[in-house]
Amino acid sequence: MDVIIIGDGPGGLSAALFLAKAGKNVVVLGKDETAMNWAMLHNYLGIDAIAGTDFQKAARAQVAAKGASIRDVAVTALARGDSGFTATLEDGSSVTAPVVVLSEGKSWKLAKSLGCEEAAQGVRVDAHGLTSVPGVYAVGRMVRPARSQAIISAGDGAKAALDILAREAGKDVQDWDSP
Ligand SMILES: Cc1cc2nc3c(=O)[nH]c(=O)nc-3n(C[C@H](O)[C@H](O)[C@H](O)COP(=O)(O)OP(=O)(O)OC[C@H]3O[C@@H](n4cnc5c(N)ncnc54)[C@H](O)[C@@H]3O)c2cc1C
Repeated sequence: MDVIIIGDGPGGLSAALFLAKAGKNVVVLGKDETAMNWAMLHNYLGIDAIAGTDFQKAARAQVAAKGASIRDVAVTALARGDSGFTATLEDGSSVTAPVVVLSEGKSWKLAKSLGCEEAAQGVRVDAHGLTSVPGVYAVGRMVRPARSQAIISAGDGAKAALDILAREAGKDVQDWDSP
């Protein structure tokens, strides 16, 4: 596993899309309990209007089609070890990877448990979503709880993914396609 993504709202799924598209072995962990299931979007650029639940269905299908694994499971603990970060799942199994993207939404329990620094609101991150713990990114609502919008979370996820790819490549990376 290259990257573990915890949280399956727009932030986590967007990170997964970019990473899977780049050929990374990525897993998204979450039980589709996102706030999106209560939203009716009229403010997502390029889409006139869509129910949040329909947006999620389309996003999950898109991400899975690019090769990411989406697992319907909650993470009960996250720990740093010699071989990377290990997420313990509610069924007792675990996954380990050198990089983690956290998109926990309205709370940030796992980020806190890892010792990620906090800002006045949410988790402190740099311009690419990297937290104070190397190898751990935080995106979306958990870094901007009072200004939470789906399109911002999706953008955050994309930024984090490009940073992961750029660090590995040792140079900046664009994900550009042409018709
Ligand atoms: C009633 C309502 C209406 C809204 N309307 C709009 C709107 O019109 N337009 C708009 O842009 N936004 C709207 N929003 C806000 C929008 O839903 C959020 O901005 C968006 O969901 C944030 O995405 P995210 O990926 O950052 O976090 P979330 O969507 O909150 O995703 C976080 C996910 O992580 C999961 N998770 C957390 N911890 C764990 C764990 N330990 N293990 C596994 N999974 C975990 C959660 O269950 C959740 O599924 C609305 C929200 C609500 C509540």
